[in-house]
Amino acid sequence: MITIKPHHFLDVIKLYGKGIEKFVPDKKYKHNFYSVANELMNNHEIKIQLTSGKDDICGPCIYINEDGICTDSIDHIPGVNSKDEWNKTLDHRIMSYTKVVEKDQLTAFEYCKILYLEKEHIFDVWKEESDSSKQIRYDTFCIGAKKYLGML
Ligand code: SF4
Repeated sequence: MITIKPHHFLDVIKLYGKGIEKFVPDKKYKHNFYSVANELMNNHEIKIQLTSGKDDICGPCIYINEDGICTDSIDHIPGVNSKDEWNKTLDHRIMSYTKVVEKDQLTAFEYCKILYLEKEHIFDVWKEESDSSKQIRYDTFCIGAKKYLGML
């Protein structure tokens, strides 16, 4: 079982769409993105459970505090400095459109399929980002999802 934030799942599939098939450790953040992503790549039937809080990727990250809050900051969204706040905004938007919410359990394949069927919402979820960023995110997610779902 993997506990994961919805936007982290989308990020994994997006990077898969960019051509990454074997993920490596991040030296700066020291988070678990690589091992969770590799598990998702190796087992499409693995059970996942969604959260908008600390997930299995955040576990060893240098920015997670003892209350499970991400203490990292961002500067690319006007009026939002807290990465924790921004992440929760993204995750709540994704949960709202997919109707898959906190603590729901399903397989990685099933979740990827739901996200792919509702892919147009990517433009709403990341609406504060530039048009070019959204388009790249959408295009690479679609390629990754089709590969993951065996459609390519
Ligand atoms: S703690 Fe923050 S920076 Fe670290 S993995 Fe989690 S969301 Fe990302």
